[in-house]
Amino acid sequence: MSLSQTYHDSKWMIDLLENLGHGIVILNEALDVTFINNKASLLLESDNNGLSPDLKSICRYIKENQHTYKVISSSFRYTTFSTKDKIELLIKTQPLLGDLREFKGCFILVKEVFNFDTLSKQLDLTEKKYSFLFENTTDGVLLFNDEAVIIGSNLSAEKIYSFDSPSLTNKTVADLFPHHSEEVFKGIVEEFLKNGRLSSFYKFVKSNGQPVYIDFSAQAHILPGVHMAIFKDLTNTILLNKAFKQTESNLQTLFQNSSHAIFLFDQNDQMISMNEKATSYLKLRSIEDLKPQSSFFQSNILPISLTKASEKLALMKEGEVVLEQYTFINEINNQQLWFEYSLIPFLNAKKKILNYCLTIQDITDKKNVEKELIESEAKFRNLTEYSPNIIYIVDFKNRQFPYFNREEILGYDISKLTTFEFWDSIFHPEDENRIREHFTLFIRHKKGNSSGIDFRIKDSKGVYQWVHNRHSVLEMTPEGFVSKAIVNLSIITEQKKQEEDIKRTNFELDSFVYRASHDLRAPLKSVLGLVSLAFKEKEDTERARYLGMVEKSILRLDNFIEDLTNFSRNNRLSITPREINFEDIVSHSWENLKYMDTHSNVEVELDVKYRYSFYSDENRLIIIFQNLLSNAIKYRNSNLTTSVIHIRIRSMKEGVLIEIQDNGIGIKQEYLDKIFDMFFRASHDSNGSGLGLYITRQVVEKLGGTIDVESNYGEGTKFEIYLPNLMSNRT
Ligand code: ADP
Repeated sequence: MSLSQTYHDSKWMIDLLENLGHGIVILNEALDVTFINNKASLLLESDNNGLSPDLKSICRYIKENQHTYKVISSSFRYTTFSTKDKIELLIKTQPLLGDLREFKGCFILVKEVFNFDTLSKQLDLTEKKYSFLFENTTDGVLLFNDEAVIIGSNLSAEKIYSFDSPSLTNKTVADLFPHHSEEVFKGIVEEFLKNGRLSSFYKFVKSNGQPVYIDFSAQAHILPGVHMAIFKDLTNTILLNKAFKQTESNLQTLFQNSSHAIFLFDQNDQMISMNEKATSYLKLRSIEDLKPQSSFFQSNILPISLTKASEKLALMKEGEVVLEQYTFINEINNQQLWFEYSLIPFLNAKKKILNYCLTIQDITDKKNVEKELIESEAKFRNLTEYSPNIIYIVDFKNRQFPYFNREEILGYDISKLTTFEFWDSIFHPEDENRIREHFTLFIRHKKGNSSGIDFRIKDSKGVYQWVHNRHSVLEMTPEGFVSKAIVNLSIITEQKKQEEDIKRTNFELDSFVYRASHDLRAPLKSVLGLVSLAFKEKEDTERARYLGMVEKSILRLDNFIEDLTNFSRNNRLSITPREINFEDIVSHSWENLKYMDTHSNVEVELDVKYRYSFYSDENRLIIIFQNLLSNAIKYRNSNLTTSVIHIRIRSMKEGVLIEIQDNGIGIKQEYLDKIFDMFFRASHDSNGSGLGLYITRQVVEKLGGTIDVESNYGEGTKFEIYLPNLMSNRT
């Protein structure tokens, strides 16, 4: 019987070997493993099938040398290679010998060698893990002693309390319960030490006024005389919760006080609740007894057909917000009421419908205003469409013209007038800056709600027309600028012309009165002087000389009065066209000038050719000829014995061209453009009124013609007159 067999049979022995705490291996004489306990298997990473080759070679060595040494007991260190942690093992071998000291087997003891370094490293790592947790947990952790003095704390604890000191050490836990008196707190600590536990939820206010909510729990005696507290800052959670509750109550208030009637339905179309406005709406529909739990379809809230209602509900249940209007007559006062309703789905995150709400708003007032607006718009259109003025709307913001009351303005199609650039191009260059300045101020609302400006615009024929542009504010931007204005444009060219005529007439009248009083009085004064001289004169010849001078003065006066009469006649009398015989006109005019001194020294040569009959105002033609011929006599060159006036007249279909040329003293170039002005005299020795050519031009213009002058000083003067034929059926 082998030893191992003996051991094997002894169960208690095996138990002992198993629980010894060391690894034990028994080999037989052939070095086969006959026993190995769990610990040895674990350490050697071996199983019953055998030992590691290293160990086997050791055993072989013992066997081979047992005769030499008789007893071999060895002890050596062996490092396992396969285990991750590379544990160092101490292995002792003891040969098992028979009675004759023959080799019967081997007993092997395996022990772990405890290396201090490895052990302390492991310890360090574990501690670090715990201290990391301790420091980094969001919960505050405090260690304190029996007197409640804090002997340790983590970062979160300090952060939660926001204490200034770098640590809480040496403060007492009582500081963290500012809401309890010292007495009460003492009692709490005593109770805690007795019970071993304490948990509390409380609020305190930080020095900056912020409230803090704390969930506190403590465990006593975690080490002898040491207790631990863990606490959480629940402030954010609590505040959020409060805010949520507030929002909920706000929504509730909104729901109750909304100006809309609101009905809430669940997904099965059962009414859950309604607000106050909804109750008063139901009164209007005479369905006051409507109670929650009634169905959307039977409720009759909306006066619409069932088909339409289910159509709209289906649409809403797909996630769309339905918005519709309806109207009915209020039976009590027969008033037509308008309502707008909307169906709003409340969907969950997966877009599944939870509830929905029906809101109803009374829009009767809005509708009525809309109606009035449409009516007043129609009135406005009627007014503007039939207005004699041009009316349009300017959109300054978008630089557009959204409305014109005409298809055509000043000969332009309105499609042309739709850009600011085009209007800019037809403004009179002299008015451009003024227009720009005016509208810049108007847009900035610095000209009031309504203002006006006169300026010139070129019409489609290229003629400048005066317009009066009156504009009023239609719309303002939120920044206070005018964005739209309505414009009333009237063409005032005629009016402007009349205004200018009046201005000119007034000016002429002023200077006329001034000059006339002077020119009328001068000859009268000289007549008076001459008469008193004549009275005193005894000599007949002298008296006759004075009388001759009186006559001249009177003639001058008469001349002047004739000029005045001609002037006023021309302005006053209407034109009466007659067929003109120029020979008659010239001889009549010439006759009238006979009283002039040097009349006899002047010859007239008349050359008339009529290709067409010419019609004009005879009396006015006499005024023209008389004035021009009298000038030719007055300003004849006295160095010549005979002066000649060439009159050349050619009548054409449209009008007549008259040239009157003399060989008189001529007119200096610089006076040529002034001789037609009122009271202008170009030579000092002129004793005329200075009205002759002024009246001549007025008369020519009245007849629709033109007058021009050419002159060489010292040689002579030529007047060229064009007069239109005033008969429409001229041949
Ligand atoms: P006045 O009464 O002085 O003749 P008018 O208006 O007829 O006034 O003429 C204005 C001026 O033009 C005259 O003062 C004269 O100096 C000049 N003038 C007009 N006609 C002639 C002419 N045929 N030859 C030279 N000078 C002329």
